[in-house]
Amino acid sequence: MSKVFVITGPSGVGKGTLISELLQRLPDLELSISATTRQPREGEVDGRDYHFLAPEEFDRRVEAGDFLEFATYSGNRYGTLRSEARRRLAAGRSVVLEIEVQGARQVRAAMRESVQVFIAPPEPGLLRRRLESRGTDSAAAIDARLEVAEQELAAQDEFPHRVVNDDLGRAADELEGIVRTELGLPLHSGAE
Ligand code: 5GP
Repeated sequence: MSKVFVITGPSGVGKGTLISELLQRLPDLELSISATTRQPREGEVDGRDYHFLAPEEFDRRVEAGDFLEFATYSGNRYGTLRSEARRRLAAGRSVVLEIEVQGARQVRAAMRESVQVFIAPPEPGLLRRRLESRGTDSAAAIDARLEVAEQELAAQDEFPHRVVNDDLGRAADELEGIVRTELGLPLHSGAE
């Protein structure tokens, strides 16, 4: 059975790293590549990290109904193209969406069967430290992201699953356990 897994949580919480770990452990899962109007960061590749779209193209695709969900986050637009999820599900794969909270709500409304996981920081101060040490955002962009993060943290109780990213290995174990349970897979990979 294939499912849609929505992984959300504030910027800097380590969603990306946790998801990479999850995808390594469960190779049948596939990450949906989002579309965004934000500028590529150094090292980001179009079609691999995001589909980088001009704002007019993003709007055109919104009008065409191409998005399963979309949201404005910190001045840029982000969205999941229906085609990204559809073709993976049609191939019998489960899909992981790494998206912010407004998008997670839209997916919850459109697909009640989606599995929604909120990734939380062990303490809020960690977000600033992570965003600063990542070095990908300006000081102003970090402040904007932290402001959104506060609202996102306030929404965490909406989510049926919550994983505290206190330690990558432990948090990945917990996330893997949630996914395995939802997919009806045995809880141990048998590797250990
Ligand atoms: P970043 O600019 O750091 O790559 O992403 C900013 C925020 O947008 C992150 O919280 C990320 O999870 C979220 N995001 C990425 N892709 C999507 C998407 O397709 N839809 C929504 N709603 N949020 C997204």
